[in-house]
Amino acid sequence: MHFALPDPQREFKRRFDRLCGERIAPRAGEVDRTGVVPKESWTELAEAGYLALFHAPQWGGSGVDGVTQGLAMESLARACASTFWSVSISTLLCGKMLSELCGLVQHERWLKPIVAGLVTGSFAATEDAAGSDPGSYRTTLFDTKGGLRLRGEKSRISNAGTADVAVVLARRGDPSGAALCYVVVDLSTRGVERRELPKLGLHGMSWGALRFDDVEVPPDDVIVDASVEKTLHVVEWGQLLQTWCAIGLASAALAACRDHVSSRLAFGRPIAHLELVHSRLADMHVEIEAARLLALEVSWIKGEGRVARDLVFMAKIYATEMAVRVTDLAMRTFGGWGYSRERPIERLHRDSLANIPAGLPTDRLRELLGCAMVGADPWAYEPFDWLGPAGLRLDGE
Ligand SMILES: Cc1cc2nc3c(=O)[nH]c(=O)nc-3n(C[C@H](O)[C@H](O)[C@H](O)COP(=O)(O)OP(=O)(O)OC[C@H]3O[C@@H](n4cnc5c(N)ncnc54)[C@H](O)[C@@H]3O)c2cc1C
Repeated sequence: MHFALPDPQREFKRRFDRLCGERIAPRAGEVDRTGVVPKESWTELAEAGYLALFHAPQWGGSGVDGVTQGLAMESLARACASTFWSVSISTLLCGKMLSELCGLVQHERWLKPIVAGLVTGSFAATEDAAGSDPGSYRTTLFDTKGGLRLRGEKSRISNAGTADVAVVLARRGDPSGAALCYVVVDLSTRGVERRELPKLGLHGMSWGALRFDDVEVPPDDVIVDASVEKTLHVVEWGQLLQTWCAIGLASAALAACRDHVSSRLAFGRPIAHLELVHSRLADMHVEIEAARLLALEVSWIKGEGRVARDLVFMAKIYATEMAVRVTDLAMRTFGGWGYSRERPIERLHRDSLANIPAGLPTDRLRELLGCAMVGADPWAYEPFDWLGPAGLRLDGE
């Protein structure tokens, strides 16, 4: 394992960091206020090669190593988490769904334009009543005399309002059946409705519901051979996305703290001199470095085309919870200014909270990790004597 970048990648990183610092970061406050990532940012990121980083040359990608991908993700997330999420959900999560699970038709029709930054993608698994437990997904693809139709509603989907295409996880034939498939849905098709959901952070990224009212689906757009296990492998890219987002946010908070403590005077001198303040910065620094090392290892593995599984769970658990701790400490370091919308810290804290539940919540990842360690089945639950499907059992029930 080695993390040193070869010359061309080092040069790419230098140029990319500059773009993020000079063009993307200054727009972050405006993106948060208006709820829109400007088209300009998408264009600049596509031109800089960010969208291409994660894909092979035959799809317009640059096919670079995982370490370069990871460090670029950190730079973009540090500059603006909303921009990072919108763009990375499209090229990384939806892009990998298309490249790893779908066939040539989808590669030509959707993957290439996504990598070129011409269209936007999303991945839709979660429903109102189903998140961690895929056994309860109800969106269904069924046969009619007039062809295949998709019915159901996905919920809390990143890019729901802005995406052109969604890879949708659905049941085949029967809402309670076991067979899963992926349906690649052109979101301009009749019968697709979108609804935005208000949220705490990541204001610049659209997030909401996608409703499918008997949407007509051409047979070529159905990938029949789907499973929870296969989906989890690709969702590792999503967990890596959340991991790097968390590291970017935490390092942005630490950089803001360093500036603040050197210029903020209290009791006649910069607060940097207070032992509690500078030792807090040291703690933040240690945590960020530890998370970055773990994330680099995962990125390196993923870049080699291998499954990271337990390591990506560890990285996501540690980094996402670390970023919430670090941005909370940053808010305290800023005192009352930490709570003000005139400073970036409260935004960094709000945005950091998104990474814990997104993908799979860190609690569920602990469960998957712990079960693997002791050889237990993370999908099988015994009935509880104190809890029924509708909630707590009352005496005599
Ligand atoms: C910012 C953001 C972006 C998102 N983007 C997408 C997207 O693009 N596409 C998409 O499909 N979904 C997306 N989601 C949804 C996300 O994947 C779900 O929120 C997540 O899978 C958890 O499902 P849930 O919210 O229904 O929580 P539930 O499954 O109801 O879980 C609630 C809580 O119960 C506990 N819990 C549940 N099961 C277990 C278990 N087995 N072990 C331990 N604890 C458990 C955990 O504490 C968990 O946090 C996004 C969510 C967020 C916050």
